[in-house]
Amino acid sequence: MTAELEALREQAEAELGKVGTEEELLTIRTRYLGRKGLLTGLLRNIAAVSPEARPRFGKECNELKEILTARIDAVLDGMASARKAATLLDARIDVTLPGRGVRRGRVHPVIQVREEICRIFASLGFSVVEGPEVELDYYNFEALNIPKDHPARDMQDTFYVEDSIVLRTHTSPVQVRIMEKTRPPVRILSPGRVYRRDSDVSHTPMFHQIEGLLVDKGVTFGDLKGVLTAFLKQVFGEGTALRFRPSFFPFTEPSAEVDIRCVICSGQGCRVCKQSGWLEILGSGMVDPEVFKNVGYDPEEVSGFAFGLGLERIAMLKFGISDIRLFFENDLRFLEQF
Ligand SMILES: [Zn+2]
Repeated sequence: MTAELEALREQAEAELGKVGTEEELLTIRTRYLGRKGLLTGLLRNIAAVSPEARPRFGKECNELKEILTARIDAVLDGMASARKAATLLDARIDVTLPGRGVRRGRVHPVIQVREEICRIFASLGFSVVEGPEVELDYYNFEALNIPKDHPARDMQDTFYVEDSIVLRTHTSPVQVRIMEKTRPPVRILSPGRVYRRDSDVSHTPMFHQIEGLLVDKGVTFGDLKGVLTAFLKQVFGEGTALRFRPSFFPFTEPSAEVDIRCVICSGQGCRVCKQSGWLEILGSGMVDPEVFKNVGYDPEEVSGFAFGLGLERIAMLKFGISDIRLFFENDLRFLEQF
């Protein structure tokens, strides 16, 4: 090889030894082998070489072209493999790492209580029914023997949508709706959201009630006591003591509030039971004949009892929760405990 070609080869080798990127490599290829490249330039000037040296010069030029082409391809290949290896290393999955756990949701404590109560009453033959939360004044009040001038209709307690439409303040309207289209016997349970304008540690503007209604021939206050006693002992334990206190509701007569012996202090007196040893749990009573007349039942022929309770209140006592608002803040640290 001529000294000129040898020098060119050495220069190319030196540059290829230092090359870092593919871009640089392509620049080198163009510089030596491109149409205006150094080696191409030498071949173009072959006329300047003496005729006897020409064939050898031409052959050596072609040899050098092949050598450089092979070298550049080899470096390119090396770069491609290195890039592939780096990609694989990047995407490597460490199969020995522990898996990421999936956080499981759970049933809200109020809904847990609702389901438990529905289960207990289902075993006593009650079926679960539901009704609208936006309710006609007629079903929420009038049909339940609460006329327009009744104190229970205090504007403070009720959200009015229009004059004759309210957000239901209790689940009792469902009982009226069912009785209107069903002949006795009736044995229903109606759980659901109700709304009242009230907010403190034991009241929220929206809360859950569950109400029960049993209508048949010859239903007595003894049946009411029997059913509610069986129910409360299942929820709070067989040893739970109960007491029935006379009370008043517009839609039942006679009416009774049912208390249980305080589950916190066992009747000794504490802050939760306001030192009385008893906790108010539910309201109940024999359905008022006026309500039966409103739905077309004959009060001489059938009788029945109804009861209602707040699900949050039961959940608070059952789980020892002191502030009702915790149920609706959706704080997972709270909800995860149940
Ligand atoms: Zn107590």
